[in-house]
Amino acid sequence: MIVAIDGPAASGKSTVARALAERLGAHYLDTGAMYRAVAHAALEHGIDLDDGAALTALASVSEIGFEHADDAPLPTAVLLDGADVTSAIRTPEVDAAVSAVAKDPGVRRALVAHQRALASGADVVVVEGRDIGTVVFPDAGLKVFLTASAEERARRRHVEMNERGRAVDSQVVLEELERRDTADSSRETSPLAAAPDAVHVDTTGLSIAEVVERIAALVEERVS
Ligand code: C5P
Repeated sequence: MIVAIDGPAASGKSTVARALAERLGAHYLDTGAMYRAVAHAALEHGIDLDDGAALTALASVSEIGFEHADDAPLPTAVLLDGADVTSAIRTPEVDAAVSAVAKDPGVRRALVAHQRALASGADVVVVEGRDIGTVVFPDAGLKVFLTASAEERARRRHVEMNERGRAVDSQVVLEELERRDTADSSRETSPLAAAPDAVHVDTTGLSIAEVVERIAALVEERVS
């Protein structure tokens, strides 16, 4: 069964999806990390972010994977061509570049095929992204669309960046999130959108545990 978790930046997707996968003993796939890895590679190679053909070629040859300790459901690292890029894909430079990379149809084709392959074979997989319920897994057993107010999302991202030792102004964080959401929602190919049959969960004011319990109950309902 695929559990699709979509939503805008900093809506709580990663934290919730990871905790849910642990709670269910399920596999977990972070598709945003894959777009980030291509954006990181494009910056490293000095590729023009408007050059769709070069981005598509890069996405097609890049080997993106996740490192797992033994049989642990949660990955311990994101790998790009064998190198650990876990931290390198979470920089403000990658934040600023990733939407331009993700709007390219060729990049999306390459990564969606890879995402489907990575999720195949597992009993239950929690997959998070922007187009999981609409495009990647339109037949997912459960689709959740997570939201939170813009202020709450900016507050969360600000805390997260401070924890990583990056001092940034909270107004700048809010503007960057809104810019990325506008780009992700307005692109032609697979925009950020809720599937018509998605369950909407507003995480503003809810604890992670509350959101996870709510979704776990939905999963249990669907499998029984
Ligand atoms: O989830 P995260 O914020 O790490 O995603 C980074 C970026 O990757 C998003 O802003 C979006 O441009 C792109 N993305 C996407 N489709 C997905 C997952 C992420 O376009 N399924």
